[in-house]
Amino acid sequence: MFPYYGNCGFIADYLEQKKDVIEIAYRSVLGNDLLEDVKSSFGLLGKGSFRDSGESTCMYLQSSLKGKCRVKDNGEIDFEDGFTIKIYPSFVFPKDFFENPRVSSAQKHYLIFHEWNHFIGFALNEIPISSVIAFLKKTLKADVKENYREKAEKAREELQEYEECITARLDWEMFPWFFSSGTIRLAEKTKQNLAEWGIDSMPEEEFVYDVLLNWRRHGEKGLSEFTGNIVKSFSGVNVVKKNIAELKSTSS
Ligand SMILES: [Zn+2]
Repeated sequence: MFPYYGNCGFIADYLEQKKDVIEIAYRSVLGNDLLEDVKSSFGLLGKGSFRDSGESTCMYLQSSLKGKCRVKDNGEIDFEDGFTIKIYPSFVFPKDFFENPRVSSAQKHYLIFHEWNHFIGFALNEIPISSVIAFLKKTLKADVKENYREKAEKAREELQEYEECITARLDWEMFPWFFSSGTIRLAEKTKQNLAEWGIDSMPEEEFVYDVLLNWRRHGEKGLSEFTGNIVKSFSGVNVVKKNIAELKSTSS
């Protein structure tokens, strides 16, 4: 089901072999409509969206910003009319890791799904959490006041933990046997975050609709004021999802 245009035979073979099982699993949790939404985002991926080398596996966004904005001390952002953030999804699946015989197959399989689960959240949200994270990363690279730098760095970490937590629940929902067999254990920190956010105990449907799809509303209750205000301000941003092939090297 998941398209893969990288050069790692292990991943290509596995995704091809298991495509029907994968599709059934996702359909049972997401339902037909959401699954179709996810599939329509596959068009955002191409050969250039898969890197075969990197330090670890990840799904990440490159971004480009157009327009001006001003961040207030409490995190509220005034975005100029028409402020646009273009985001380009891509993956790192290091060939060395996936073709290393010393790493167990289960570990490799789990990481493939885990990164795709980050993509699911990205695909289903008009304003994905990863786009706010990408915005913060981008503005942190710019010449910004020390005061903003510290707070924005914290906000970025907070959102990354929140996103990791949502993805961990999706992993567990999609492929419970990785966890029930003891093959995969969640990090203590992730377990703690899941409990703090109340994401571990909620029913599946509630998780899908109230957290995965409505992470901004759900996040309002738990994010710090600064981060929460950034997230609220994002209603004024035009987020456009693009294929990485359209990213000009000068704007990254
Ligand atoms: Zn992750």
